[in-house]
Amino acid sequence: MKERDGWGREVSRRDFMRVCVTVSAALGLPFGMAGRIAEAAMADGRPAVIWLHFQECTGCSESLLRASHPTVATLLLEMISLDYHETLMAGAGHQAEAALHASMQGNKGKYLLVVEGAIPTRQDGIYCKVAGKTALESLQEAAAGAQAIIAIGSCASFGGIQAAAPNPTGAVGVGDIIKDKPIVNLPGCPPNPYSLLSTILYFTTFNKLPELDAKGRPLFAYGRKLHEHCERRPHFDAGRFAQAFGDEGHRQGYCLYKLGCKGPATYANCSVNRFNDIGVWPVSVGHPCIGCTEQALLFNTAIADKVQIHEPTPFDSYAPVDLKEKGKGPDPLTTGIVGLAAGTALGAGAMVARRLPVDSGTQENDHGAAD
Ligand code: SF4
Repeated sequence: MKERDGWGREVSRRDFMRVCVTVSAALGLPFGMAGRIAEAAMADGRPAVIWLHFQECTGCSESLLRASHPTVATLLLEMISLDYHETLMAGAGHQAEAALHASMQGNKGKYLLVVEGAIPTRQDGIYCKVAGKTALESLQEAAAGAQAIIAIGSCASFGGIQAAAPNPTGAVGVGDIIKDKPIVNLPGCPPNPYSLLSTILYFTTFNKLPELDAKGRPLFAYGRKLHEHCERRPHFDAGRFAQAFGDEGHRQGYCLYKLGCKGPATYANCSVNRFNDIGVWPVSVGHPCIGCTEQALLFNTAIADKVQIHEPTPFDSYAPVDLKEKGKGPDPLTTGIVGLAAGTALGAGAMVARRLPVDSGTQENDHGAAD
């Protein structure tokens, strides 16, 4: 397989298989399933996808397309038949509308509907109109013929910033309006492009949506709190916190909890999958997580507010935080020497013990078993 993306770069078979293995691992599937995912991705009859934009910033599309390494976007766009996407399609006006309706009629009951952005409902939804129709009308019309719906981003999932108090336009997510179709929510501002790619690959491979949590999020991406895999977690456990932006703790990479990090209450895969193919995410570059995948936190909690957690201080058994400070504890060299001496003594003791006859008259052999 050698495809060219929109920038003229090739996707090699190696890159293709690497993505399939990554997706397979992210989905928690056995290793051998990467081959089945690859077959489904290359099969004829690409699924038709209609992508609607409502109240949003296009950041979800941007994060997918502006990836520094284009493999994910390229594969995604090669795997699907993207029949309507207001930002990407060359057509406009009546031509674009004709493409939308042709796809809805021609693929009735079989297409995948992707929604980006919240849907305003106040005053019959007049706050967002495309082609003379409200977002509410467009969504209901497109959802009627869809096989399944993917709400991409926090706006389409839960209303996003538009739904923050006092929510003047009555913005809501897709699931608040559409009740009779399978819907998967991929919240995030933006969500990781791999979460979208994995969801679509799962859908094309198994003809169903992946397992979801109570908020409609796929468990493969939102099953664990990002706090569990955060690289600053050892600092959290040891009680080392940045107290202010730019202070010594911040520069040393200490935990950002006291700066308002919502990681301990946020289910997402940002700390594992990361962004832009260069391994970064907000916490890795010094900004607290704002909890953008959580409906209760997103834009309803100030960035500096702390989430309530059970134990923000280390257990008594942890080493003191200032162990390295001069005059407040042993220096690393002393610790090493004492450790070496203790280890030698213990080792010698163990060897002597192995050679002493035991009371019962038996003796251990070289593998520790009694003769
Ligand atoms: Fe990482 Fe935030 Fe958890 Fe600290 S509170 S370990 S910065 S996720």
